[in-house]
Amino acid sequence: MTPFIAKLVWWAGIVGWYVIRYPHQRRSRKTPIASRRERVRERVLLSISFTGLFIVPAIQVTTGAPRFADYSFNPAPAWLGALVFALSLLLFHRTHRDLGRSWSVTLEIRQTHQLVTTGVYRHVRHPMYAAFFLWAIAQALLLPNWIAGFAGLVGFGTLFGFRVGREERMMEATFGDAYRAYAARTRRVVPGVF
Ligand code: SAH
Repeated sequence: MTPFIAKLVWWAGIVGWYVIRYPHQRRSRKTPIASRRERVRERVLLSISFTGLFIVPAIQVTTGAPRFADYSFNPAPAWLGALVFALSLLLFHRTHRDLGRSWSVTLEIRQTHQLVTTGVYRHVRHPMYAAFFLWAIAQALLLPNWIAGFAGLVGFGTLFGFRVGREERMMEATFGDAYRAYAARTRRVVPGVF
């Protein structure tokens, strides 16, 4: 593994992520919405996350900036980063498959919204966010730059921190006891831990 290959792996991860998401994004536009929460706030949080997971690392990978934050490249963490990115994409694919038409990029309830508690949702309540955290960890392992490497954890961590409680309250308001029972037997992101 060289710094150049680590950058290619990062790009490959971005392409993989887009290929997985695209059909769901298209279908979601055609799935009618019953209710929607805090649109502006959600857009701001998405922009922060997008900046940290994509814009800042894309600038570093293509131009090298900000060079003052570089540290020396080590192949071992970069290999681990490639593995973590692959796991992230696998989990991302499975969460989309399991959520189906219930998926939204922001906090929304569909007209035919089904509560999903099977597949990867049997193990944790937020497996898609777990996949994003794995992506952010892979970014930190692949890019030897303090700012570009850790921007994903900061950006996605901000979205997660400000969203997850609201999302759970929305799900509870919609599905009541069914969601409360589901929440009582699962953790948020890491099975049995967090
Ligand atoms: N937080 C989940 C889903 C992310 S997508 C995860 O990390 O996997 C966000 C949308 O998914 C929310 O707007 C909500 O409408 C929907 N959602 C979240 N959990 C759900 C569940 N268990 N079943 C069905 N829809 C869910």
